[in-house]
Amino acid sequence: MDPIELSTLVIDSGNITEPLNRITNELTELGDGLAIIESFSHTYALRTDEGLVCFDASGAGSGGAVVTSLRNWSQEPISTLVYTHGHADHIGGSFAFAKDAENRGNPDISVFAHENVEARMDRYAATNGWNIAINQRQFGGVRSEMSLEVGDELSRFLPRATLRPSETFSTEQVKHFGDTMIEFHHARGETDDHLWAFIPETRWLFSGDFIIWNYPNAGNPQKVQRYALEWARALRKMAEARPELLLPAHGLPIEGEQRIAMVLDDMATTLETLVHDVVALMNGGATLDEILHSVKVAPEILAKPYLRPLYDEPEFVIRNIWRLYGGWYDGAPSRLKPAPDALLGAEIASLAGGAMVLAERAIALSESDLRLACHLVDLAAWAEPTNKGVHEARAVVYRKRRGAELSLMAKGIFTSAARESEAVLKATS
Ligand SMILES: [Zn+2]
Repeated sequence: MDPIELSTLVIDSGNITEPLNRITNELTELGDGLAIIESFSHTYALRTDEGLVCFDASGAGSGGAVVTSLRNWSQEPISTLVYTHGHADHIGGSFAFAKDAENRGNPDISVFAHENVEARMDRYAATNGWNIAINQRQFGGVRSEMSLEVGDELSRFLPRATLRPSETFSTEQVKHFGDTMIEFHHARGETDDHLWAFIPETRWLFSGDFIIWNYPNAGNPQKVQRYALEWARALRKMAEARPELLLPAHGLPIEGEQRIAMVLDDMATTLETLVHDVVALMNGGATLDEILHSVKVAPEILAKPYLRPLYDEPEFVIRNIWRLYGGWYDGAPSRLKPAPDALLGAEIASLAGGAMVLAERAIALSESDLRLACHLVDLAAWAEPTNKGVHEARAVVYRKRRGAELSLMAKGIFTSAARESEAVLKATS
């Protein structure tokens, strides 16, 4: 279905009948001289007097397919690539854009981005192994030392040929591409290097990952700090521009001033409320534990088609709010300078009558309280890291836990835990 038709239908009816985050690499013309290629992150292409301006390059694995689709629509040179931010799924495919320019004998592509994108690219190079490992875990895999030792492009989190920005800005900038005037605004939200762009003449707004058709990705457990309140402020500022067409980097474009205003307000409100609730409890002296188990987002908010917690989730956002306004200390003094996990597990297993007692209790608890079950089975595995019975139980408990979760991030980490135990079983069988 046409992405705008689908988005209108889903938002107006509240009924979700098909996937909304589509990775087809198919191009749809959305307006005069404007096209979307739906991909791992979408690319938007805009025809201007100075050639094509493209927003985001998709990821390393999808950039080539995006360029192929783009070239079935327009043969004009790509003058500028805008990075909405420096995440790998938005810039990793840029080498395919560069190759296209080279093959056609076109001039080099200018890359426009926020000034912090450079620092992010340097950080990715410095933490390459870490980023490969957390991405494997996020998507349910287990860290493989093999893949890190290969030393070729496949072992790079970001391809070496990724284009670096050729022009950057700091807070706001207006650029002219022939007759097309585009405003660029920086704001922190999912990242510290994000921009959104607005064309006043058509009221088209390119929102990057400020809108992803999922609960805002402000909590990601394995990534650097994110900024929930600044994210909400950016959404409010976008609403002030009164866009007619909202063009997010994931999910579906949204058409109509009223509809867009409602979506932006819903998203901003849930983030503002969450920050307010967490900070109020922090001010009252609550621990992270008390906050995590008392602050909730209403189910009717999480049921909205553009706010479902299928990728990130509010519990993780709460932790990032705590980290931003507080620190990493969670308020439990024994965890300030904890004993090694292996010692704690061994001590509790010995008190309980053995690691298998803990593992069996974890299996029983997994019927009624998966959070508690996971604690016990981890203690058992720390106590006896090579015990097959313990790892059989641990794999069962974490597979079950995965099945009970909604967000990709929780599912990925719990699947990865099950796979760790399955790997121990395989190695000892
Ligand atoms: Zn993204």
